[in-house]
Amino acid sequence: MKKAVIVLSGGLDSTTCMGIAKHEGYELYPLTFNYGQRHSREVNQAKKVAEYFGVNEHRIVDIAFLNQIGGSALTDASIDVPTEKEDKEEIPSTYVPARNMIFLSLASAYAEVIGAEAVFIGVSAVDYSGYPDCRPEFIKSMNETINLATKAGTTGERIAICAPLMHLTKKETIEKGLELKVPYHLTTSCYNGEEEACGECDSCQLRLKGFEEAGAKDPIPYK
Ligand SMILES: [Zn+2]
Repeated sequence: MKKAVIVLSGGLDSTTCMGIAKHEGYELYPLTFNYGQRHSREVNQAKKVAEYFGVNEHRIVDIAFLNQIGGSALTDASIDVPTEKEDKEEIPSTYVPARNMIFLSLASAYAEVIGAEAVFIGVSAVDYSGYPDCRPEFIKSMNETINLATKAGTTGERIAICAPLMHLTKKETIEKGLELKVPYHLTTSCYNGEEEACGECDSCQLRLKGFEEAGAKDPIPYK
């Protein structure tokens, strides 16, 4: 059975990727990064999602040293998580420096080790928050780089970076996920990481809007 590594955060997008990869016939190898994010609740939700999909192995990799780099409201307690959309032109403070480049490098290394032919990541360039590492140019370029940097890539067993949500709005992602019976009740999106979502941060607002437009009810609890 063909294998895929899924970068699984426990959020809505990465959980949708689990459903898509499964639907495409892949054996799922979710990989979760503990990067010192404030919302460490994510890691617990990722475990529940992995369990729901009945995977053989869910690897959780500790890269909490990223908070030694800092520079993000998600990893640095001295930077406030914004509640309102900041200046549209600016990259928001929730941006984690080079996060997806780091994630994809590690996920590709893991893919090579287990002989997976694909790495799924739930980035979208449509409803994204202005993060440069969510753009198709980046994914394409990273895909090239990974195959230049790995044994798999240079021996003809190329690793494909799959970003199936790249051109979908949040609404479309949710519609696809509901169709595939993705367990959204197990996901978390709030940047504040409490038991109940705040409903106010950028991520909560995007999620709520997506469910509303998809004509569905968000199954997670809000304050
Ligand atoms: Zn929130």
